[in-house]
Amino acid sequence: MLHAGIGPTHVNELLSSINIPSLGESTLKAREREVGLQVEKLAKESCLKSLESERNMWKDDSEKENVEIGASYDMGWQKRGKAHNSLRGVGSMVGLKTGKVICYGSSCGEKNAVVSVLVGDDDSSTISKVRKNFEQEVEKWSDVVHAKRSLGSSLYSIKTQYKSLTDMVIQYFQRCFGYALKQNKDNEEGVRNGLKSIVPHAYGDHSSCGDWCGYLKNPESYKHRGLPHGKDLTDKSLRQSLEKIIAVYASNAKKLAPLGSSQANEALNTIGSKAPKIRHYGSSESNDFRVACAVGQKNLGHSYVSQSILHCTVYITPVRVMGEEFTFCCVWKPNKTTYKEYKEFGLSV
Ligand SMILES: [Zn+2]
Repeated sequence: MLHAGIGPTHVNELLSSINIPSLGESTLKAREREVGLQVEKLAKESCLKSLESERNMWKDDSEKENVEIGASYDMGWQKRGKAHNSLRGVGSMVGLKTGKVICYGSSCGEKNAVVSVLVGDDDSSTISKVRKNFEQEVEKWSDVVHAKRSLGSSLYSIKTQYKSLTDMVIQYFQRCFGYALKQNKDNEEGVRNGLKSIVPHAYGDHSSCGDWCGYLKNPESYKHRGLPHGKDLTDKSLRQSLEKIIAVYASNAKKLAPLGSSQANEALNTIGSKAPKIRHYGSSESNDFRVACAVGQKNLGHSYVSQSILHCTVYITPVRVMGEEFTFCCVWKPNKTTYKEYKEFGLSV
């Protein structure tokens, strides 16, 4: 139920449609509590393990006790929309090198690891809060996806002023921006030069282009892919505005160069389908269990289900219905009769 992101009503609908007697809500809730606690425990353990392996990956030769690690942080709210009036939210921190969740919610383990690099979107509230609350110096790496998006929005904001700045041209610049960052990973100077050459390249000035430039390879037949009719842009006042915008990013090349991405966290939000926003699980402990499920699945894969059930008094039970044998995940606690059935089916308890 927790794993599938559904509630008691759905479980009962499913059961009754396959001709299996449905279960009372309180029975399901009681078992949910039992399984949920185990899942939470497992998720926390897996976070500590991921943190440990993340720490080992960042470890250098120095014998310092605290290892500086990099992590990306993102959070999701239980309520949809931009109102930000949800009372429940989940923050998760994903290790940059392992790609696994190292802590979530408010449960951060003490494992001699210090987050020294934080990747996040350009919304600066997270980083300013972190800087306020921690003495440790935290470096901010820009998240490429968000940077690309913010470039797009600043271009769209000047779109009405320039006729030649069409959607197509904006997408072209966003694409070039992405290439410039990807081709110069960890190379601050390269990112700066790459970004600075984007606008001149689009205007037919290839003096600062690198070896990626198609014009330098084949000047006669070169056409811009992505610009209208493959021709150079000509609007001079637009060029000034574009260069101004790009210059802001070029001056932040240091933050962009490591190409950190909080995509991993965003992916965790989709696993958040275990607590869908259209249903209100936020006000109960069920929400915590569901979040733990998402973390467990991210860190351990689907095997977290069987691993957590192992420690519960809930078993996979074969159930006889209408003379046929069905096997499904049973949510009853074993009593004497079911215990006998386990033996009959050769299952160990
Ligand atoms: Zn060029």
